[in-house]
Amino acid sequence: MMKLIGTKICVVCGNEFKGPGNICKDGDYCNECEKKVRLVFMEDEEDYLPAAKIRARLNKYADPIAAYDSIKKPESCMICGKKLPKLMHMRLLDAYICMDCAQEAAGLLHTSYDAIGCMCLSEILPLFEQTIVRGGRMQAGPFTTRIHSALYIR
Ligand SMILES: [Zn+2]
Ligand SMILES: [Zn+2]
Repeated sequence: MMKLIGTKICVVCGNEFKGPGNICKDGDYCNECEKKVRLVFMEDEEDYLPAAKIRARLNKYADPIAAYDSIKKPESCMICGKKLPKLMHMRLLDAYICMDCAQEAAGLLHTSYDAIGCMCLSEILPLFEQTIVRGGRMQAGPFTTRIHSALYIR
């Protein structure tokens, strides 16, 4: 395809685009990709990543990225079932959880809040299930199990 003047080829999706775009290790990528990148990468994290790595993560999370805007905040945390405060909560890619669970997840993964916000509930829930098994206590809960009593017994 002949390159038109003023257009570039996005190194992530391969589409032509106009404007300055966004920088990654391999060159510039388009604003359409940038919108998705913002959901699954921490701020500025992608600046030094190769396009293939960015593309791989966008593909991995293609479904939750597509559904992102359609997800409404539920009344309660999708992990522990506690009521979600209006402001103090954590938005995952495909779910909302309370700050306690977010902090717990960040601790279990040895990562930051920001990184938790780039993940899916299905990636975080197994951590809590393992903790419950270690803690040896289980109570029926709304999503899987109530974990709080178990979490602090280690
Ligand atoms: Zn693109
Ligand atoms: Zn919670």
